[in-house]
Amino acid sequence: MRLISTGRHHAAFEFGDLRVVSLRDGYIDMPPTRLRGEDGCPLDELPAAVPLVGDNLRLSVNAFYVTDGARSVLVDTGASNVWHDPTMGLIYDALDEAGIDRAQVTDVAITHRHEDHVSGLIMPDGSEAFTGLERVWIGAGDISVFTGRLGPIRERVVPVSEKVAINDWATAIPTPGHTPGHTVYEIRSDAGHLLAWGDTVHVPTLQFDQPHVTWEFDGDQSQARTARAGLLDRLTRPHHFVAGAHLDSPGIARVAPPATDTRWSTSHHRSADRACRLRAALATAAKEGNVI
Ligand SMILES: [Zn+2]
Repeated sequence: MRLISTGRHHAAFEFGDLRVVSLRDGYIDMPPTRLRGEDGCPLDELPAAVPLVGDNLRLSVNAFYVTDGARSVLVDTGASNVWHDPTMGLIYDALDEAGIDRAQVTDVAITHRHEDHVSGLIMPDGSEAFTGLERVWIGAGDISVFTGRLGPIRERVVPVSEKVAINDWATAIPTPGHTPGHTVYEIRSDAGHLLAWGDTVHVPTLQFDQPHVTWEFDGDQSQARTARAGLLDRLTRPHHFVAGAHLDSPGIARVAPPATDTRWSTSHHRSADRACRLRAALATAAKEGNVI
């Protein structure tokens, strides 16, 4: 993975016979209470390695364009103007800066239905961002997002319900958890594998070492935790790289094997939020059929 150009909104890499371009849509600030321990409650304290801006976590919002010169795939599209937050929606500037003609984009691969990933298909003025668009790949469990503002694109949606090839070098792999249709895209070149993993990790300074820590918006916390641990394990193989929607821009990284087995140890976290702990205990008791 060799950096070949960079700018305010993009970074382009040579990845064997492919070119990978990281596109900055912007960033979003979120409170640390979005992070959840295994009891489903907010964490009491954050490790010092987790930086805050003001009182918030700052998450990069990235999309990725991959091309072999003839065919291309754009993974995710940013938030356009949907989030009512002026810190996102820069993907169009990023594409211009990287010299990518939006009209030439035929295949968009969406990791999941959330607004910071799918909304960029439509520009703030209501027009389609990618006028040559032929296919939008998205997990079958997430296709309900193609209504209203995104409705005009629905007939070009290709639902992904099992591992499927998009082209010779890109494969869609369902990884439900964050959402029912969450999907990662594996890119293979003669230099290795790149996994565009969407929202598998939101806070890299914490969740690489502690994958059991989940995110409030993980629709199925336990499934998301299992998916994250499995993908991290897979990515420790040689010649494997990750492209993360919320990893710090440009969001492309290697995953080192854990120094110890702490990744797999059970968290002993107990939240100081007593009301949350009580709800968690009641939910566990109900699941186990206990009456308390
Ligand atoms: Zn996201």
